Amino acid sequence: MKLRVDSTADHQFGTNSFLIEDEDTHDAVVIDANLEPEPLVELIRKRKAKVLAILLTHTDVDHVAGLAGLLREVGQVPVGVHESERHVVAEGKPLRRRWPVPLPPVETVTSLVEQEKFRAGSLQFEVLHTPGHSPGGVSLKIDGHVFTGDALFAGSIGRSDFDNSDPQALLDGIHSKLMSLPDDTIVHGGHGPDTTIGRERRTNPFLT
Ligand SMILES: [Zn+2]
Repeated sequence: MKLRVDSTADHQFGTNSFLIEDEDTHDAVVIDANLEPEPLVELIRKRKAKVLAILLTHTDVDHVAGLAGLLREVGQVPVGVHESERHVVAEGKPLRRRWPVPLPPVETVTSLVEQEKFRAGSLQFEVLHTPGHSPGGVSLKIDGHVFTGDALFAGSIGRSDFDNSDPQALLDGIHSKLMSLPDDTIVHGGHGPDTTIGRERRTNPFLT
């Protein structure tokens, strides 16, 4: 497998959407659906990537708002989300009281389960439950890459001051599930630039 990772960020929240592709088979997965799906759609077309699933690190509106647009492009592929935030995608219920933005319900929701693998063609992701920013936060690991959503960023960690946040769970998850990965693991956060586990271990002020 020859893994290629590309990302696009929207202009309003700087939320990253990722296209992960096996260049040998063109099997691909999208992680998170930011507010501007068009650049990602262009990328998918340019690469002739076969998007087999869309996986969500969590369901804050800036990570799911582009879902309908993406599904129109790639067809009704499975949309993976942790069980505790399934209702947001399946029923269109907002994750936060604070941002009550309704979304069109998705019919192809599938569950991402801690410790279980998610397979999409030649791609296989390991699901790591990293809650705290939100109850169903997951990180997705493939080869030497981990997609951490709003749990871990370069030089920072996610907010945990919302009604359904849990600051201790956020730190516990980062330490037990992410900081246990090898130093050279590339971290792709939900916002901002890539980093590595080693760099965050040494320099992230929220973890030292
Ligand atoms: Zn976010």
